Amino acid sequence: MPRRTLSELYVALIKRSFGTRFALSRLTRVPLLKRAIGKAFFDGDDMMILPRDNAARVIELGIEVDPGKDVVIPSDVLREMILAHDGATLMRRCICRESNGCEDHPRDLGCVFLGPGAERIPEALGRRASSAEALEHVQRCQDAGLVHLIGRNKLDSIWLNTGPKEELLTICNCCPCCCLWKMIPYLDDELGRSIRPMPGVSVEVGEGCVGCGSCAEGSCFVDAISLRDGRAVIDGSMCRACGRCAEACPHGAIALRFEGDPTGEALKRLEPLMSTGGQ
Ligand code: SF4
Ligand code: SF4
Ligand code: SF4
Repeated sequence: MPRRTLSELYVALIKRSFGTRFALSRLTRVPLLKRAIGKAFFDGDDMMILPRDNAARVIELGIEVDPGKDVVIPSDVLREMILAHDGATLMRRCICRESNGCEDHPRDLGCVFLGPGAERIPEALGRRASSAEALEHVQRCQDAGLVHLIGRNKLDSIWLNTGPKEELLTICNCCPCCCLWKMIPYLDDELGRSIRPMPGVSVEVGEGCVGCGSCAEGSCFVDAISLRDGRAVIDGSMCRACGRCAEACPHGAIALRFEGDPTGEALKRLEPLMSTGGQ
């Protein structure tokens, strides 16, 4: 079947079955199914969530830091990743927001794909762009409050029908309401762990928390933050350190902590993916 027809069929299938994604994710908790589903859709996956740049600027609890000084800028990782490739493919639509009828985030800011596989994405779904255009696209995504999820994800090479998974790198620009990866809490834990925080980044709630609950109202895509005994509590085993709750807190009571060299470590982790998928 022609490449375009097959991927368009997959897109139609995703849209039609999007509402069942949580129920389907739960199937991975059945041991035999976990093995089969893991092999078919998650084999070799390694995805990392970059904290929002704005959240990263609040390092000490409640203290705004001068962005120019010793601050980790998570999107620098993205910049390096994009510049290591000769152009990118920008998806014309975000299939998750489109499928879920998103009203809060732009549906025309979709994923970005890199590597030889990205060149095989049918024109109808994505357009080839220069690295400069790709950088502009991800900046628009940051400005729209989206979170970047980057790395290798076999599922993308399947639904886009781009050939070997090693030849495609993904940059998702995700909202907390409609993103496919909201299924993480429903997945078998080991499969869910293929989507990790940026190395060396953690999130904590400080003494300034007054229990207003703003952070727990729709900021977290993995349901890791809740109110308990009048203050916010983060489930460290679920949290992927996206920093969205820190941005949402009107009291500056949630902070990101950086240990070591997160940018360097993140690039080190991406390097083997880029050397096989890069050009
Ligand atoms: S993974 Fe993120 S950017 Fe990609 S289609 Fe889903 S919400 Fe949109
Ligand atoms: S938004 Fe801030 S102050 Fe309000 S509950 Fe969350 S952490 Fe506490
Ligand atoms: S608790 Fe949720 S919103 Fe906050 S940093 Fe962790 S994953 Fe992101």
